[in-house]
Amino acid sequence: MYSIALLRNFQFLSFLYIMKKMECPYCNCEETKVIDSRESKDKASIKRRRECIKCSKRFSTIEKVLKLDLEVQKASGEIQVFNLQKIKKSLLKACEKRPITLEQIEKIIESVLFDLKKVEEHVIPTVIVGGFVLKHLKHVDEIAFLKYAIVYNNYESMKDFMKEIGKLNDFDEFSYDKFKKSTVKEETLNS
Ligand SMILES: [Zn+2]
Repeated sequence: MYSIALLRNFQFLSFLYIMKKMECPYCNCEETKVIDSRESKDKASIKRRRECIKCSKRFSTIEKVLKLDLEVQKASGEIQVFNLQKIKKSLLKACEKRPITLEQIEKIIESVLFDLKKVEEHVIPTVIVGGFVLKHLKHVDEIAFLKYAIVYNNYESMKDFMKEIGKLNDFDEFSYDKFKKSTVKEETLNS
């Protein structure tokens, strides 16, 4: 009896995997889907229940929330601490009623964080964050991408939107350097 209880405990512990790659501990498959996710009270970690796509076994992961030492500057000039939840919220909204899984949304956020980590400045414009979101969202779902882009670009009218529609393809190649170059060009043109 004692040994069974111990064994159970051991199994439980082995389920609480702390991994970099979210691979299945049973078959090493890297494709897993998130069934449930819960934030810790201090919001420093997230516990996720996952299911392996290949063998269908379930396990949990504890993921540390990545803290980026980053601030964002709004168009108004106001500077705020970078907030990951805001990105998630805006993404969820754009992905509403679209066939997109929570897993896909989290992958987009991971890619955005990866891009942001490469930016060397400490304060970056919010448009950069949105640009990275659009870059990664475009490959996942074009309709969600359009919804996000409409909010992001703040079009004043349909005519405005039609005029700029060709520019939407530029997000495939969005990078901080390209953004900086294009704004410098615009500033020179406007001066
Ligand atoms: Zn598996």
